[in-house]
Amino acid sequence: MILLNPGPVVLSAAVRAALAKPAICHREPEFADLQDRIRSALIGVYDLDPERWAAVLLSGSGTAAVEAMLISLAPAAGRLLILSNGTYGERMAQIARSHTLECSVLSFSWHDAVDLQQVEQRLAEDSTIRHVAVVHHETSSGRRNDIETLGALCRRFDASLLVDGVSSFAGERLDFEGWNIGACAASAGKCLHAAPGMAFVIARRDQLSDGPSPQRSVYLDLNTYCRHQDAGDTPFTPAVPLFYALDAALDELRAQGGWEARHRHYRRYADRIRQGLLALGLQPLLAAGDSSVVLQAWHQPEPPGYEALHDGLKARGFVIYGAPGALARRVFRVATLGAVSGSDIERFLAAVDNVLGAVHPPADAR
Ligand SMILES: *Cc1c(COP(=O)(O)O)cnc(C)c1O
Repeated sequence: MILLNPGPVVLSAAVRAALAKPAICHREPEFADLQDRIRSALIGVYDLDPERWAAVLLSGSGTAAVEAMLISLAPAAGRLLILSNGTYGERMAQIARSHTLECSVLSFSWHDAVDLQQVEQRLAEDSTIRHVAVVHHETSSGRRNDIETLGALCRRFDASLLVDGVSSFAGERLDFEGWNIGACAASAGKCLHAAPGMAFVIARRDQLSDGPSPQRSVYLDLNTYCRHQDAGDTPFTPAVPLFYALDAALDELRAQGGWEARHRHYRRYADRIRQGLLALGLQPLLAAGDSSVVLQAWHQPEPPGYEALHDGLKARGFVIYGAPGALARRVFRVATLGAVSGSDIERFLAAVDNVLGAVHPPADAR
């Protein structure tokens, strides 16, 4: 089964083998070595200075990292501004509300860009805003938000970006220093091609040091994790097999040429799928330049409708993804993460043609 959903991904043979390694105790030096290796490799994906940046590892899905980032770094004094143009922006607002963080939310339509003029106005009106939380790749629509321009704007108002990079880390460009990023949450099971259930936050060390007191969570406090991990230790029992899998996946990323090579590889697949689906008469939700290379959303063909398209493709070995919230029942999504080959993409396009052809038989066959 070829998974074209945005994680979990088809695992490579090396990552699958790593999951089956013998158990080790997390209080032994061999675990500390594994943890250190992963933390350095994650900092190395975007060539960050380990003196200034820390990778903090968590067992949990991507949302655990986003929640840990927001509640550990939003200071007790000062307001958080959350920008939302999709499901994951809304989820950040939900996290902030459930922890009663001082925050305001600017919401935009799910297929529109974040309106930077409105952000600028809000920052100018409220000098207590210290952090701006934003989703880099809003996976619900496939939009890559322009956090480069946003970061420059925030720098002028002395606010740093807290980025949900769960579906862009290792697949899209992220300039941590240049874009005024304070922290970025991500997970192992998307563009890093490891197993789901492990996540992390790359945080500027000076942001970690002035977290709120008292801390807002026992289990999701980044400062606690970072302190233990810097000492070669861990506060709780980690998901060790997932650490092994991420370690193997990071080795593969390096061997394949790093994030830039992965970005080019996704770009090739995205372009091919775009060309192939356009040729079949399907319409993309966003212009190519607004979309990430990781995933594209398409208007649902009627007929056959999402269920029939999904089921027809699944019977042919491919899993596509519906859309949540405001886009539900209107679009379907195709991601190209994981160990998917160029010939899988060609077979996928042929399968779409086949499923649509069963609904719209050629005129001479009617
Ligand atoms: C997948 C994803 C998440 C996290 O979802 P989980 O189900 O908790 O892994 C968060 N943000 C974005 C943008 C995502 O794509």
